[in-house]
Amino acid sequence: MFNLILFGPPGSGKGTQSVRIAEKYNLVHVSTGDIFRREIKNQSPLGIKVQSIIEKGELVPDELLVDILRLALRQAGNPGGFVFDGFPRTLPQAADLDNLLMETGNQVSLVLALDVDEEEVVTRLLKRAQLEGRKDDTEDVIRNRMKVYHSQTRPLMEYYEKQGKFVSLLGVGSIDDIFAGICKVIDEKRA
Ligand code: AMP
Repeated sequence: MFNLILFGPPGSGKGTQSVRIAEKYNLVHVSTGDIFRREIKNQSPLGIKVQSIIEKGELVPDELLVDILRLALRQAGNPGGFVFDGFPRTLPQAADLDNLLMETGNQVSLVLALDVDEEEVVTRLLKRAQLEGRKDDTEDVIRNRMKVYHSQTRPLMEYYEKQGKFVSLLGVGSIDDIFAGICKVIDEKRA
């Protein structure tokens, strides 16, 4: 299995690129943010539980992520691998992912970070707020999501660097150029 984590702050383009990567390399795209948005839209018990957390830009508790992840892996059947988008976001989540993949003799293959500076990201997210009307794209919430990213998610860089799995790419420029850069790294890793 080839298991890729696309890493980066909110608004770095992970979602857009993940969809393209999954299509090209025949991987299953797992976006925990998309899963939560769908649950909220359906007002399922899980959706109701996480709605106010997400609207504040906080992280959903790790315990809930393990269950979601286990389900997503099971539902995928036997794919060539996964692209994880927006997951893991904390060290305990990274450990849970390692453990779940290990159950089937697999592991994280590569962590690709999209490097975009904070002001650029905030500008992009404010623009997305106008286009898509996401409730967590207001300026206050965006700033909070960046704070949460720095304090809880960035430490994962070191976790994966130590394992020699971490590669960072500049996430600025056209979507096609960034995608080409990503493909080059993936192809080298798979070669
Ligand atoms: P995203 O679309 O990935 O930016 O996710 C939107 C929101 O969903 C985040 O701001 C969090 O509130 C929540 N969320 C998504 N993925 C996770 C995760 N792995 N851990 C905790 N919360 C998450």
